[in-house]
Amino acid sequence: MHMGTLVSITAVGRSHDEANDAITAGFQEIKRLEQLLSTWISSSELSKVNAAAGQSAVKVSLEAMAVVRKSLQVAEMTEGAFNIAIGPAVEAWNISAEPRLPTPEELAAVKPLVDLQSVHTDVWERTIYLEKPGMRIDVGGIGKGYAADQAVLVMKKAGAVAGVVALSGDIKTFGRLPDGTAFPVGIRHPRKEGELLAELDLQDEAISTAGDYERFFEKDGVRYHHILDPRTLQPARGCQSVSVIAKEGIWADGLDTGIFVLGVDRGMDLVEQLEDVEAIIVDADGRIRVSSGLRNRVRLSKGSGQ
Ligand code: ADP
Ligand code: MG
Repeated sequence: MHMGTLVSITAVGRSHDEANDAITAGFQEIKRLEQLLSTWISSSELSKVNAAAGQSAVKVSLEAMAVVRKSLQVAEMTEGAFNIAIGPAVEAWNISAEPRLPTPEELAAVKPLVDLQSVHTDVWERTIYLEKPGMRIDVGGIGKGYAADQAVLVMKKAGAVAGVVALSGDIKTFGRLPDGTAFPVGIRHPRKEGELLAELDLQDEAISTAGDYERFFEKDGVRYHHILDPRTLQPARGCQSVSVIAKEGIWADGLDTGIFVLGVDRGMDLVEQLEDVEAIIVDADGRIRVSSGLRNRVRLSKGSGQ
C-alpha cells in the first residue's frame, strides 16, 4: 500500500535479477514521491505549503513544483473543473475516513478557500504560496499518475525492457510482453462488482480511471463520493466513471478527475480536441461513450451496458 492505494509492479528483464531490481526501484520511487506529495504525511513538502497558508511562501523541490504547475494546467484545460485547491472541501466531507454530510454553512465557509487564483507559484524562487489562511492543496486527483510515470523511468534505468506500474486504477505500461503482445488492461464496471466494462491493449501509454464507486457512502438512497464539483462542493453527478488514456500518467490522472466533473458532453469535446488523449466515459445513466481514436481498439464486455 502506497499513496493510500494498492500498488502492483510487473517487470520484464533480460534476467530474473534485472527484473527484480527494477521492481524494487519502482517501489522505492513511489515511496519517495509519497514523502514529497502526500498531504496525509505532515512532513511532506505539500503539507508544509498547506501549513503556511496565509503566512509565507514555501520552498519546494523541482518535482513538487512540476506536479503543482501541471495541476494548474489541467485546471485551465478543464475550465476549473479540476481544482487542487479543493482540499478544505475534501476535508469537510471526510470521505476517505468517516464520511459525513457537511452542512450548507460549512461548505459556504470553505468555498472562498477553493480558489486557484490564490495559489501562487514562483518558478524562479521555486516557492508555492497559498494566499488565504485555511487553504489546502490536494494532489490526490493527479499524483498517482505522476508516481506511475516516475516509477517507469527508474525501472527503465534499472534495466527493465518492459513493465506495468499500477496504483490501483492508475496504470502506466512500457514496452511489450516477451511474446510480442502489448499489455492488456481491464476497466472495472462501475456498477457490476467484479466485472469488467472493457479491455484494451496499451503500449507506452497510461490509463487512469476516476469512478464514483471507489470511495463513497450512501445516505437516504443518495450516493456521495470523493470527486467534488468545485462550483458546488458537492459530489459531481455527470458520470459513473471516466477512463482516460494518454502517453503520460500525469495527464491521464489529472484529466480523468477533471472530465468526471465536466460531464460526458463537455468532457468528450475536450478529449477530441487533445492529441494522444482518448477516453471511455460511463454517464450517469450507465451509457458508454468511447472517443473516436479508441473505437477500433477497445473491447467492450458483453452486457457492459446498463
Ligand atoms: P482516485 O484514484 O484516488 O480515485 P481520482 O483521480 O479519482 O483518484 O481523484 C480523486 C481525488 O482527487 C479525491 O480523493 C480528492 O483528493 C481529489 N479531488 C476531488 N475533487 C477534485 C477536483 N474537482 N479537482 C481536483 N482534485 C479533486
Ligand atoms: Mg485523477
